[in-house]
Amino acid sequence: MTQRGLLIVLSGPSGVGKGTVRAKIFEKSQKFSYSISATTRKKRVGEEDGKDYFFKTREEFEEMINNEDLLEYAEYVGNYYGTPLSYVEEQLANGRDVFLEIEVQGALKVREKMPEGIFIFLTPPNLEELYNRIVCRGTDASDVIEKRMLKAKEELELITLYDYAVVNDQVDEAVRKIEAIIESEHLKVSRVLGTIKKEVED
Ligand code: 5GP
Repeated sequence: MTQRGLLIVLSGPSGVGKGTVRAKIFEKSQKFSYSISATTRKKRVGEEDGKDYFFKTREEFEEMINNEDLLEYAEYVGNYYGTPLSYVEEQLANGRDVFLEIEVQGALKVREKMPEGIFIFLTPPNLEELYNRIVCRGTDASDVIEKRMLKAKEELELITLYDYAVVNDQVDEAVRKIEAIIESEHLKVSRVLGTIKKEVED
């Protein structure tokens, strides 16, 4: 029987660089499956439907909620974001590690449903740096930036509910640390034991 994959949840405040870190991890290796989220937010320049997100209307998204098609969802700065459940289940069952890159409320909901996941909180070096990153990105109007900053302060307080904290000061360093976390999780005796026992029995 294939050993179930690991569910890796990368979370943290908006603007902390989750997207950049995740893109770098996927650039380096094909060993993880990335769960593409559904959202009702407008597509940004350069984004593609089915690659960056599944872009949905509010009605379509609410239908997914009602049909229980989502592992989790959250309303974030006026839009819905959610993780399609079937893809995650299918990949884990096939022994693939699945990577979610989601905001904090959603990550906490995943923790309730799949506590065996690995929950990694990416933090900014400080709040001033976070503000600069959101402004420099140039994709949000000033009222949205204010909302994102307020939210970020609330989210930082939830760090204690995670398994690991990684400071995103230098992207390459953050990537290296996340890869090291995943590798050591794979080596946990509780995970390895099943395989060894099976070999001894065979
Ligand atoms: P953005 O609008 O900048 O693409 O994303 C806003 C926030 O939503 C980011 O923190 C991003 O990680 C988060 N996000 C993206 N997909 C999901 C999802 O499926 N569920 C939840 N809860 N958050 C998500």
